[in-house]
Amino acid sequence: MEYKIVTIPGDGIGPEIVREACRVLDQVGESYGHTFSYTKILMGGCSIDEYGVPLTDEALATAKQADAVLLGAVGGNVGNSRWYDVAPNLRPEAGLLAIRKGLNLFANMRPAYLYRELADACPLKKEIIGDGFNMVIMRELTGGLYFGERHTEEVNGVLQATDTLVYNENEIRRIAIKAFDIAMKRRKHVISVDKANVLDSSRLWRKVVEEVAKDYPEVKLEHMLVDNCAMQLVMNPGQFDVVLTENMFGDILSDEASMITGSIGMLSSASFNETKFGLYEPSHGSAPDIAGKDIANPIATILSAAMMLRYSFDLDKEAAAIETAVQEVLTEGWRTSDIMADGCKQVGTTEMGGLIAAKVAANAIN
Ligand code: NAD
Repeated sequence: MEYKIVTIPGDGIGPEIVREACRVLDQVGESYGHTFSYTKILMGGCSIDEYGVPLTDEALATAKQADAVLLGAVGGNVGNSRWYDVAPNLRPEAGLLAIRKGLNLFANMRPAYLYRELADACPLKKEIIGDGFNMVIMRELTGGLYFGERHTEEVNGVLQATDTLVYNENEIRRIAIKAFDIAMKRRKHVISVDKANVLDSSRLWRKVVEEVAKDYPEVKLEHMLVDNCAMQLVMNPGQFDVVLTENMFGDILSDEASMITGSIGMLSSASFNETKFGLYEPSHGSAPDIAGKDIANPIATILSAAMMLRYSFDLDKEAAAIETAVQEVLTEGWRTSDIMADGCKQVGTTEMGGLIAAKVAANAIN
């Protein structure tokens, strides 16, 4: 079967890491009999250079035609780049907001997985890490406090600012369905995080999540207050499988969860709309400080491609083949410079991509 992928290499290290992810995808295609076709579009600084805007309508229309989008990263050196001498809506990162809005991506998924081989980079104590952790944070992306009405006014001579946190039941239901669907492909355990002891929006959140849970009898649902969740993430991260939460709580908790993995070059992410379509990207930025040097870690992007196979194309076996290949390459001691440790063998971006692709090929034969 042929899968249509739109790639957005973007800026900085983006082209290097997307190239390696496509190389691994091509190997999956060859080994498992699939065809992945790529259409490249410009977004970010490279689009500004070519068209004067970070994302053209044509590029967005092309992305809408795809089965999935694979993004590297956009943006340059913020303090020292001509891309930032313009209004915020014309800067590279405005392309990200435009594509998320244009594709109606309301659900963000960020896995936090600790590789045994990288446990030394985890800031938590060994007794807390235990057997490691493997969770995903499902964050609502288009509602809540960041999108509610806001204003600042003077009341009786005192400045007062108001932000509103609004959710309707449909917005909650669609992200909850995504989270339960993803739980069905994992360990079937959802922890829904809210502040239902205080907030009305959280009480509605809880009610709707419980309604959705009835359609997934195999999935265990628990509720956790957000302050407790922030503590539990650093006290017992192994308890989490799928964490489902609203926009602002998810913003904070997903950063906390990624920090405890200790390695930014390993963290993948995905954003979804109501269909199987997804936009897949590493959690890190365009790292202009190391761009073009063949030293960036391509693994976050390669793992994002694995997520694409699993969640947009339902190619679970092929996704697992990439994840196993990454695991084996790490176990053999291959490292890019960002995750280098004593006794390991340092390789660059291209070589790391090649090693992972070779593992995919070898494992498919065995
Ligand atoms: P960054 O994630 O690009 O880099 C932070 C640090 O981590 C840097 O030292 C960088 O060299 C390192 N790093 C990041 N990814 C790496 C990788 N794969 N391998 C090895 N090292 C890696 O964050 P930043 O420096 O704050 O931002 C740089 C640019 O990226 C800015 O223009 C910012 O706006 C943009 N940005 C884009 C996205 C996106 O496209 N989704 C996300 C975040 C930041």
